[in-house]
Amino acid sequence: MTQLFDKYAPLQARVDMMMKIGQDALGVKFDDIISATRGRIGNREILLAGTNNYLGLTFDADCVEAAKTAIDNHGTGTTGSRIANGTYTEHVDLEKAISEHLGMPSCIVFSTGYQTNLAAISGLAGDKDVIFMDADAHACIIDGTRLTNASTIRFRHNSPEDLDKRLRRQGEIEGGNALVVIEGMYSMFGDIAPIDEFLDVTHRHGGYLYIDEAHSYGVFGPTGCGIAEAQGVLDKVDFISSTFSKSLASIGGFCASIHPEFEITRKVMRPYMFTASPTPSNVSAALAAVSKIKQGGYLRDNLTSRAEQLHKGLSEMGYDLCAAASPVIAVRRPNEAVAAMEWNWLMENGVYVNLAVPPGTPQSSSLLRISLSAAHSETDINAILSAFQGLKDNQGSMMQAMAAKMQAAE
Ligand code: PMP
Repeated sequence: MTQLFDKYAPLQARVDMMMKIGQDALGVKFDDIISATRGRIGNREILLAGTNNYLGLTFDADCVEAAKTAIDNHGTGTTGSRIANGTYTEHVDLEKAISEHLGMPSCIVFSTGYQTNLAAISGLAGDKDVIFMDADAHACIIDGTRLTNASTIRFRHNSPEDLDKRLRRQGEIEGGNALVVIEGMYSMFGDIAPIDEFLDVTHRHGGYLYIDEAHSYGVFGPTGCGIAEAQGVLDKVDFISSTFSKSLASIGGFCASIHPEFEITRKVMRPYMFTASPTPSNVSAALAAVSKIKQGGYLRDNLTSRAEQLHKGLSEMGYDLCAAASPVIAVRRPNEAVAAMEWNWLMENGVYVNLAVPPGTPQSSSLLRISLSAAHSETDINAILSAFQGLKDNQGSMMQAMAAKMQAAE
């Protein structure tokens, strides 16, 4: 008879391999987070280069103050959903601020970015609708489609041509609509969607375009609305979702729409109705961050300069980078074992990046993923670059050490 956890034997083997090489890269514990760019493990200070803290606002004095004031005024928790237990003034204020920022009449906030996509996608797509989703869609977009009875079709990553072909092949959708779901900047490679082209194709076929700007809201566009704003098409996008956990230095998420009728979905979206609403402090920190974002041209300029500096430096060293310069810079490694070994070496040398491996990565790639922050200085980027130079210089000894560790563990 099989045991309940037998199905995880292959996964356990991968984790065991990683533990032979070093520490568990997917379970790092920081003893202290000192600032937007520094953490501490034991007595070692670590340069944080894998946090998604794009604008570096987690320690911003106004965001911190807003969160503290909200706790003083309205307590630490909401204890329930807005449907069952009521809405707080903070929820309404934040929805209004984001609506105004994006110029969209409807905005709904959710408890996490993950739940945002679960809720909005499942709320928008009914049995007769068809969801067209990018092949590299984030897990919460995929999971959102699983909460619906709509059929789902994947199109080639970042290919409006492939979407066009599939929409044409689909033809008239009897009693339903096409909902096309893409992302602004993709989280693993840091590549950017041609939103203007996707809009054109989607609307030409009478569909609706939904864009997850989790990694791009706050980061791109003259006022920080995201890639759609940067490409000059924000006013035509049907739905924009994002998270508060990256540029907004909090936790939660939102979906906004040019369609005022989106409001009705509050009464059907299960991940909105049957879970506690975000806390006053989370929502207030995000609200303070929205006003920083609107005036945050200098933060975005800094982030862009740092991204260009790092991208140029790594390219000159001969690293294989997955996309053009953006706040996410992914370095492609030959396989999981090498990536894990290098990740450990970087950690031992005081630089934290993300080890990104399948199934969370496109093309089954193994990556050292760096996410930059406006709070990084030029000196910080130089430190990251010299760590990556160190990786190259120490390849031979690292390989020997890895082989020895694997042997010792056998
Ligand atoms: N969308 C995308 C594209 C993401 O990368 C993530 C998380 N990294 C989410 C949504 C979910 O956001 P959160 O972690 O805030 O729940």
